[in-house]
Order: sequence, then C-alpha cells, then structure tokens
Amino acid sequence: MIRCVFFDRDGTLGTLSDVRYPQTITYFPDARETIRALHERGIKAMIATNQSSIARGTGAGYDFDGEFRFLGADDWFICPHDNQDGCDCRKPATGLLRRALEKYHWSGGECAMVGDRETDILCGERMGMFTVLLSPQRECTFATRPKAIISSLSELLQVLPTD
Ligand SMILES: [Mg+2]
Ligand SMILES: [Zn+2]
Repeated sequence: MIRCVFFDRDGTLGTLSDVRYPQTITYFPDARETIRALHERGIKAMIATNQSSIARGTGAGYDFDGEFRFLGADDWFICPHDNQDGCDCRKPATGLLRRALEKYHWSGGECAMVGDRETDILCGERMGMFTVLLSPQRECTFATRPKAIISSLSELLQVLPTD
C-alpha cells in the first residue's frame, strides 16, 4: 500500500526552458490533476527537488512554497545546494527522502518516487521506494532500472502497487 508519492519537480511536474531559472517552468496539464487523483485515494503527494538554482542565485527568493501549494502538494523538500557543496540531500543522495520519512514515520516501502532522471530513480531505490520513471518516449536510457515507466503523469495511478 503506497501512502505517499514523491515527485521530482523539473522535467517531472513540468518542463523548463532554462533549468537555471526555476520560474521558467511550465507545468504539465495533468500535474495538478494527478495530485488530486492521489488525494482521492488517500495518498499524499510531496515534492523532492534539487534546486542548485538557489545556490547559484537565480532561484534565491523564488516562491517555491506558493508554487507547491498551488499544485496541491502536501509537503515539499528542497535541496538548495550545488554539486561542490558536498551535502547529503542533493539527489541521488537520500537526505530529502530520509527527512520526509522521519517526519511522517513512513517506511520507504510505503512510498513511491517519480522522476525523469537516474538520480531520482537511484535515490528512490536507495530508500526502498517504488520507483517510476517519467519518459515521454517510454524508455530508460540509464543503468538504474525503475520499477515502472510512464509516458505521462496521467498513467501514474495505473502503475502504483495496490497491495
Ligand atoms: Mg528532473
Ligand atoms: Zn543539499
């Protein structure tokens, strides 16, 4: 039984015209709908996002809280660091997901991680989560195998384990 789905932001909930600038995101039309559909089934929806944009300055002061609230997310966990900071939370490091599990007293097996990159899949796998790759071409181009591949968020509910 999945209690919570964690979503990567960039490339998963929407596309960015420039990843350095968080404000250039265009949300996929089914992002809010998918979160609502999860809620209808009693499943929480949270965001786990690397935002080196904050460390680099272009994302500093950006209203992530307002954005994630608008999306209907229940909570969000943001890594504000860059590669050279050596933090424990920049995916594929597990700090964001570990903090979330500690806060809500869930095990990894009760959660899913949805993302568009290997770092997301690896991070979810390390925490024992059900991993879902979002790939419009429905293909996995890296070594870490996701548990499921979807070509759009609207397919998510069909692939989540129900038992
Ligand atoms: Mg991404
Ligand atoms: Zn970090």
